[in-house]
Amino acid sequence: MQPKDGDVVVHCGHIDAGLKHLYELTPPRPFTRPDHTKGLAKFLITCDACLATASQNPLRVLIRGDATWDGDAPLWEDPTVH
Ligand SMILES: [Zn+2]
Repeated sequence: MQPKDGDVVVHCGHIDAGLKHLYELTPPRPFTRPDHTKGLAKFLITCDACLATASQNPLRVLIRGDATWDGDAPLWEDPTVH
């Protein structure tokens, strides 16, 4: 399971955190940015600390940003794929 080119990913904002978790959102979840534009997230990436704060429930993680997956990005090799 890998994000594909063009997939929208929401994240907790801690890109540089060491251990991160990737969740596929099925169905994709709509969200609204602070500028009121809307998006549809197919994946959620959270660091270990934010997941712990959210009581291990990825749907309760505080989202601080979104990004569009670049097809040239390295494949996700973290073992903590859910
Ligand atoms: Zn985080």
